[in-house]
Amino acid sequence: MNHAIKIMAPGHEALTQNTRFQVYTERQLDKIRPLERFTKEQRFEMHVVANVLPFRVNQYVIDELIDWNNIPADPVFQLTFPQRNMLEPEDFERMAEALRRDAQRSEIQAIAVDIRSKLNPHPAGQQEMNVPVFHGEPLPGTQHKYRETVLFFPSQGQVCHSYCTFCFRWAQFIGDKELRFASNEAGNLHKYLAGHKDVTDLLMTGGDPMVMKTHHLKAYLEAMLRPALEHVQNIRIGTKSLTFWPQRYVTDEDAHELLALLERLVKAGKHVALMAHFNHWREMDTPIVREAVRRIRAAGVVIRAQAPIVRNINDDPAVWAKMWRTQVGMGIIPYYMFVERDTGAKRYFEVPLERTYQIYREAIQQVSGLARTVRGPSMSAGPGKVEIQGIVELNGEKIFILRFIQGRNPDWVQRIFFAKYDPEATWFDDLKPAFGEEKFFFTDEYNAMQGV
Ligand SMILES: *Cc1c(COP(=O)(O)O)cnc(C)c1O
Repeated sequence: MNHAIKIMAPGHEALTQNTRFQVYTERQLDKIRPLERFTKEQRFEMHVVANVLPFRVNQYVIDELIDWNNIPADPVFQLTFPQRNMLEPEDFERMAEALRRDAQRSEIQAIAVDIRSKLNPHPAGQQEMNVPVFHGEPLPGTQHKYRETVLFFPSQGQVCHSYCTFCFRWAQFIGDKELRFASNEAGNLHKYLAGHKDVTDLLMTGGDPMVMKTHHLKAYLEAMLRPALEHVQNIRIGTKSLTFWPQRYVTDEDAHELLALLERLVKAGKHVALMAHFNHWREMDTPIVREAVRRIRAAGVVIRAQAPIVRNINDDPAVWAKMWRTQVGMGIIPYYMFVERDTGAKRYFEVPLERTYQIYREAIQQVSGLARTVRGPSMSAGPGKVEIQGIVELNGEKIFILRFIQGRNPDWVQRIFFAKYDPEATWFDDLKPAFGEEKFFFTDEYNAMQGV
């Protein structure tokens, strides 16, 4: 508790609540106090879903982010708690039936594995296509899809402080080791980077790298200061910790050491960017997250914000406009608005592409240029990041105008292409070329990359 006493900031008292990390999973669901007012049937439904999809929430989220007078609509409740309709009715019934008759653990697990296998656990060819080869061997825990940026999944960072119900990496969290990208090999990462001079960015991701103790982060990041890694100019850390555990930067035992590490990298000339995941302005509304942001920025770190559009949480332009305005006010730079990937409980969360485009446009119209740094709506699809630029009628045909923000081939970047308008399309794979064409300009090349 000593470290909590040191805080001298506005809202001082609010900062000393919930300094001890306490987490709940499916097994402890019935210990969550505010759920006591739910009916037995409602809690049972949560158990059913949480036996299939990952569930993990902590006391800070429960106490300070969820408005329990606004259930089930509350966005952070939707973001973290399982809802019956996240499973297809027949899958829900199958698991519910097994739980009702108190089936053996092994049978419940087998049912869960079977349901999960239908939920496209590895979208966009992440496992097959992005893992680089190093000295003739695949380099575990890394992905290198775009020339400039290497993604790294440290093994100590393969959980999060809470789980998002819509997470596209949900398959990593259900205990199946084969599904994990993790690596604990700092040495191989550093050798790989040293051998790839066109890599300018290292993107630490997970899970959430900020669940790691500072001394683990240090083992990965301090090496970036070596002359051999001078070309790695930008160090990005993808994290939801500002939402789920801002204490990481304020009251955790090694918070100070963490900020000192990041500051050292900045002072040595690196661009250090915290790629923060915020879905809703409510996540930025507590005194402790504001204090965390202040401290991170004081260390010279730039915070950029990104998130997908998800139904039931943020499919509303007013929510995005307010979120971006709040971010700009806090010194956070809006970066990407994503389209939710076609995985997991996608039917519950998906928003038609046409609607995502309208939400982006209506939100952007409400903010000043300082918030218009955000690009989107963007789909992280197999060939690259594809932005929906517009919906127009051209030569008598209604079409989507699309653009590569990132491409598996750098030459595709910034190229425009056209897809047939489809009011029901929710993902890139639903799109067909416009104007009677048989394929997109990149189709043959992409197929060749996949070995098709
Ligand atoms: C989004 C993404 C990146 C980073 O792309 P930027 O446009 O530079 O932010 C890198 N690798 C993968 C696999 C990605 O999906």
